[in-house]
Amino acid sequence: MSVFSHIEFDHHEQVVFGHDQASGLKAIIAIHNSNLGPALGGCRMWAYANDEEALRDVLRLSRGMSYKSALAQLPLGGGKAVIIGDPHSGKSEALFQAMGDFVNSLGGRYITAADSGTGVAEMQIMAERTRHVAGAGQREAFGGGLRNGDPSPSTAYGVFIGIQAAVKQRLGRDNLRGLRVAIQGAGQVGFDLARQLKAAGAELWVSDIVEANVRRAVEQLGATAVTQQEIFGLDVDVFAPCAMGGIINRQTLEALRAPIIAGAANNQLADAGLAEELRRRGCLYAPDYAINAGGIIDVCYERTGGSAAQLKAHIEGIGATLQQIFQRAEQEGRTTVEIADRLAEERLRR
Ligand code: NAD
Repeated sequence: MSVFSHIEFDHHEQVVFGHDQASGLKAIIAIHNSNLGPALGGCRMWAYANDEEALRDVLRLSRGMSYKSALAQLPLGGGKAVIIGDPHSGKSEALFQAMGDFVNSLGGRYITAADSGTGVAEMQIMAERTRHVAGAGQREAFGGGLRNGDPSPSTAYGVFIGIQAAVKQRLGRDNLRGLRVAIQGAGQVGFDLARQLKAAGAELWVSDIVEANVRRAVEQLGATAVTQQEIFGLDVDVFAPCAMGGIINRQTLEALRAPIIAGAANNQLADAGLAEELRRRGCLYAPDYAINAGGIIDVCYERTGGSAAQLKAHIEGIGATLQQIFQRAEQEGRTTVEIADRLAEERLRR
């Protein structure tokens, strides 16, 4: 397994392999870039087929975090951690304590947070061993009162703001009344996004592989349930991917009719060439790492201690960032992904 010559290496500053025999921990922490501050990124637990797959994932994800934080104007660098193990059967208190020690050994150069396969409970265990962990404590909620450290509501709010910006740019509309939105994945982010869209007067279509999640959206929000296949071909204004990555691919592209793609999922485009294909077809794509930055902004404010009002205002800045990306892309005849990457790289170099 190569590291320095790995195709995803991209000048990573530090890649550390951690092992704890007693708990069975096998983990990798990757720090891509710390020009703007300590590297912050989630800790993913996944049953990787082999070490190579885990390395590839952590390198790709940590680079993505550098870009996401830079674009969101946060004083943070990009990093990520992966634990090699089954999140359904492989968790133990000892494992996450050992992971906490591993994170702590980097002395704050890397700050961890929840990701696929981990959540608030795991962050709380790691917090017993390190202070370089986010999302373990309670936070002030936007509407007053307290909430736990789950950043999903902030992610959903940022996507909602991003959809408003995309609708203004592509459809020339200032409000979402009667807007038709298809949401793929009605989980933590997708459902909360659906709730906000409904309150703004939008009409919703929802698909999820978990029947109960679909039912909740139908019963509580009046959404129309559609199958996993149907969601792509609907005659809607916005397609909001809020499930998993790679869902815009050569097959789904043929079915897609929405003039806007704007959702929370990470790595939505299966390959880089699809951004140009979407542009050619007149489909406005909100780059995923720009529109879904609400979660990392939330986590950053937990560290820096900003108020809920300041956090909300910062998340609302996602709208202005997207507007800038959309307008530059149109003026220069380039894809929104190229412009977002360029903006992030300019900030990273600064
Ligand atoms: P989640 O697991 O709560 O929700 C995902 C939902 O998608 C689940 O209900 C799942 O059943 C559903 N799903 C899975 N495969 C599907 C398919 N083929 N078709 C339809 N539905 C499917 O996750 P989440 O926290 O809501 O995150 C959603 C996406 O947003 C993920 O890609 C995540 O990486 C990304 N994201 C989340 C956050 C956050 O703060 N939670 C931040 C940034 C990015």
